[in-house]
Amino acid sequence: MTRIAKVIVDVAAYPVDRPFDYLIPADWHDLIECGCRVKVPFGPRNVLGFVVELASETDVPLDKIKPITQVLDIEPVLTEEMLRLAKWLKKQTICYEIDALQVMLPSALRAKYEKMVYLQVELEQLDPSLASFFQKSQKINFKQFEKQELLKELKQAIKKGYVRIENEVKQQGNIKEIRKVQIHVEADYIDKIKQQLSKRAKKQIQLAEWMQNHCGEIFAPEEIYEQASVTATVLQALIESGAAQFIQEEVYRDPFTKDIVQTMALRLTDEQDQALNQITAAMEQQHNETFLLHGVTGSGKTEVYLQAIQQALQDGKEAIMLVPEISLTPQMTERFRSRFGELVAVMHSGLSVGEKYDEWRKIQQGKVKVVVGARSAIFAPFQHVGLIILDEEHESTYKQEDAPRYHARDVAIWRSEFHQCPVILGSATPALESYARAKKNVYTLLSLKERAKQQALPSVTVVDMREELKLGNRSMFSTSLIEGMRERLMRKEQIVLFLNRRGYSSFVLCRDCGTVVQCPNCDISLTYHRYNEKLKCHYCGYDEYVPQSCPQCQSEHIRFFGTGTQKVEEEIYKLFPEARIVRMDVDTTSQKGAHEQLLDIFGSGQADILLGTQMIAKGLDFPNITLVGVLSADTSLHLPDYRSGERTFQLLTQVSGRAGRHDLPGEVIIQTYTPEHYAIELAQEQQYEPFYLREMQSRHQAGYPPYYYLALVQVSHEDVIMAAEYAGRVADYLRSNLSFNVSIIGPTTASISRLNNRYRYQCLIKYKREPNLIDTLLQLIKIYRTDWSKKGIQLIVDLDPSVI
Ligand code: ADP
Ligand code: ZN
Ligand code: ZN
Repeated sequence: MTRIAKVIVDVAAYPVDRPFDYLIPADWHDLIECGCRVKVPFGPRNVLGFVVELASETDVPLDKIKPITQVLDIEPVLTEEMLRLAKWLKKQTICYEIDALQVMLPSALRAKYEKMVYLQVELEQLDPSLASFFQKSQKINFKQFEKQELLKELKQAIKKGYVRIENEVKQQGNIKEIRKVQIHVEADYIDKIKQQLSKRAKKQIQLAEWMQNHCGEIFAPEEIYEQASVTATVLQALIESGAAQFIQEEVYRDPFTKDIVQTMALRLTDEQDQALNQITAAMEQQHNETFLLHGVTGSGKTEVYLQAIQQALQDGKEAIMLVPEISLTPQMTERFRSRFGELVAVMHSGLSVGEKYDEWRKIQQGKVKVVVGARSAIFAPFQHVGLIILDEEHESTYKQEDAPRYHARDVAIWRSEFHQCPVILGSATPALESYARAKKNVYTLLSLKERAKQQALPSVTVVDMREELKLGNRSMFSTSLIEGMRERLMRKEQIVLFLNRRGYSSFVLCRDCGTVVQCPNCDISLTYHRYNEKLKCHYCGYDEYVPQSCPQCQSEHIRFFGTGTQKVEEEIYKLFPEARIVRMDVDTTSQKGAHEQLLDIFGSGQADILLGTQMIAKGLDFPNITLVGVLSADTSLHLPDYRSGERTFQLLTQVSGRAGRHDLPGEVIIQTYTPEHYAIELAQEQQYEPFYLREMQSRHQAGYPPYYYLALVQVSHEDVIMAAEYAGRVADYLRSNLSFNVSIIGPTTASISRLNNRYRYQCLIKYKREPNLIDTLLQLIKIYRTDWSKKGIQLIVDLDPSVI
């Protein structure tokens, strides 16, 4: 019987995205399953592919069909669920299926790695053809078995649990192993050895007796030295006589460095209790309900998550906990580790490729039950998901910016349907879209209106910096902020100073002609870095030394402008020379573990002021913080983005929430040049509902989400004329294929009009209902892939873009 594998191949930019048929050589019939990776010939090359279906027939003539050339996995790396999810992602985000498949796997499975086979049992249990390999070592390179054509036998052995396959990432260090000692399983056998020992070998006899009480158990050598009070030589002697043996035990690289103190479930407040009850009811009924947990900062959302997860674990299920990368702080992960200990895996960008693979593998093998991670952890290969949580669900980092351009919220809801389990979206400032859905009962709204320990929300003062200037205060600190800081320093309380720098940074400006030094590759001003006196482009990485004179007018009055964290730090030292400051920004936290260290310093009271950018806006929970200062509230208001008001409100509410979370009351001072803007006025009141209503009104007027959907088509080319011309063709195509009630804006230049030497134009599609949209976009992409891409055009389609 012929066996056919349908394979999704790794050739991006091929005009058609569909599986191709390959012949499975007879030898591999029982070997290859759906979800395995293979190498297949495609044109002149061998490429990577994923087996997505097995069949017995094909339309390709049998003399034309090519065979699979290599098997990369004999156990699938993707489950049936993931294969289905990939199909859905392909449709939902208009991407190549291969991109959707790849995004679900840890990068170690894409990097260079060596596949090793580990012996798990006594050699005698193995098929003799395999056993011969393991005479000298417990671990053999997979290639050896491939060469000898023993893959079928190997697969059998894996099924029985006799051997195990692991990928060892080459560059990033191997899977760590430690040597342990396993005591022989039979007490009689050890007894026999004991009888043969010389009477004078007292220590050896002592150890043999100890071993008789621990048959079959595994110890670290040090444990044996201690428990049986013997030395290494004594143990060595007994191992040589066969009473015990050395084994290799894999240790997972532990990304946690600190000791964890176990915590217990807190007694819930009434509000928390009600919220939890509704969630656990949905879990009990195996109902894929989506909850929006709207709780003011400090209302104890995290405690609700923890107890809901506990319930999932008690039901024998697993839980996925997503947090934005930026708030994946050690403080945050510690809360989960201290409740669930070893059952927690953590996934974030700070881990090495090897560490990420280890965490993924622990999940895949069911060694852990909870994953706490950033966006991509939504693809955690758990098989019995009982609960999915997105904390800070409004964060834009849940949307991936590259293909596949998915939103973790959508994937969470898809998986919850698959597993019949609830989803919790949690936030103090939900995305407008989510709150609107909750109001329409698409999501179930759960509210926590009070802080968990009944602390008052901090009092918020808005300071008009224009008035300060009129009064002759030219510094970056208002009089009331300086006074507030002075008081706190005297009372030995802590201060958080927040610099709102989203899309805003210090740049170099000529005071004579107004020239701002720009990146030569991108239409973006360069950012000034004081520590090495360089200007750097944050988009393409270009850097140069700060010029001595203006490149335009040669004036020497060229200097940096704008308020960087370093500048603020200097100003504080001028005002309060005795203050101890911890500065957190991209410069001070680039090294691994730096983030954690800085927070430790502040948390343990070795500093008075924590100064930082967005990365300090979330998740911090320190009892001694009583003052939060926002230096420039409006910088995020002036971004060319319809969400800038929403983002500003969210950011201000989040930072304000850092103050007064425990016994001491908190105060917040917000400095701004536009105190009359509703996002700032309403952030002062810390009321979400009025903000929601006001913002919905302006979205309605301007025709933006959640009233309309958006889709973005972006065209780029190295030549500005080509880019503009093809963007025009895109607009024409869309206009002639979409219905009249769809509005198409553009072509216009993108908000960053040149990036990496490519000029960028875009068309924005606004629609309410357009059944024809996806097909039209697919047609457009087909034209692009078959024709335009050869001319150097790049085309991107982003449905529901997070930045426009
Ligand atoms: P959120 O995630 O909503 O900002 P947290 O879960 O961080 O709130 O809770 C804020 C503080 O209140 C934390 O210090 C937490 O330990 C505490 N807390 C939460 N729930 C309770 C409770 N039921 N009883 C006592 N303290 C609580
Ligand atoms: Zn100049
Ligand atoms: Zn650049």
